[in-house]
Amino acid sequence: MSKIIVMMGAPGVGKGTQARLLAEKCGYPQISTGDILREMAHADTPLGREIKARQAAGQLVSDEVLASVILTRASQPDCKNGYVLDGFPRTLAQIRMLEKLAEQQDKEIRLIKVVVPCESLMKRLTGRRNCTRCGEIYNIYLRPPKREGVCDLDGAPLAQRSDDKAETVGARLEAYERSTAPVIDYYRQSGRLIEVNGERPVDEVFRDIYAKVEGC
Ligand code: AMP
Repeated sequence: MSKIIVMMGAPGVGKGTQARLLAEKCGYPQISTGDILREMAHADTPLGREIKARQAAGQLVSDEVLASVILTRASQPDCKNGYVLDGFPRTLAQIRMLEKLAEQQDKEIRLIKVVVPCESLMKRLTGRRNCTRCGEIYNIYLRPPKREGVCDLDGAPLAQRSDDKAETVGARLEAYERSTAPVIDYYRQSGRLIEVNGERPVDEVFRDIYAKVEGC
C-alpha cells in the first residue's frame, strides 16, 4: 500500500536531509507546511498577514488554514503514490485530519522520528560557526577550522548565529520535545512510530529508515 511518511526530529538531527533522500528514493513529493505557509505569507491579504504574524511570533497557524493547505496539496496528482510530510501534523485536530485523509486515499501512515542524544545535539548546534564572508560552515567540536576563529578558505573571521547560543539552543530543543510529545505518543500507541538513531553517517541512517518503512 502507498504511504504517507511523516518526518519528525529536533533541530539539528538531520531530519530535512533524510526527508529529501527518502522523497527522492520513493519518487514522493516532500511537503513542508512551514514552506507552504511562508509562501502564503507573502500575499498582501488578510490571510497572508495573519500567517505572517503567527510565523513571526512562533505561534501555530490555525487548524482551519492547515486543513485547507494539506487537502489542497495532498490532492495534487504527484501525491498519488505517496508523499513525505515535514511539519505536519502538529496538533490533535491535525492528526484527525491526516487519519481521515489517509483512509480516503487508501494510504498507510508511518511516523519516523530521527533521534540524537541531547548532548550531541548541543555540540552540533552550539559548535556551529559561519564564515562572515563566504558563509562556509564549521563546527568547533566536529569540524574545526585550521586556525581558531578564522575561515580556512578566505581568512575572514567566523561568527556564531544568535539562535545557536547555548541558552537559546537548550530552550529550542525543550520546546520541540514538549510540543511534539502528543503527536509522537499518538503514533507510538498505534504502533506506527519508527525511531531511528540519527547519530551515524547520513547514508547509514537512511538505509535504516528505508528498511524500517519497508519500502515505499
Ligand atoms: P516550520 O518550518 O515547520 O518550523 O514551521 C514554521 C512556522 O509555520 C511554524 O512556527 C508555524 O507558525 C507554521 N506552521 C508550519 N506547520 C504548521 C502546522 N502543521 N500547524 C500550524 N502551524 C504550522
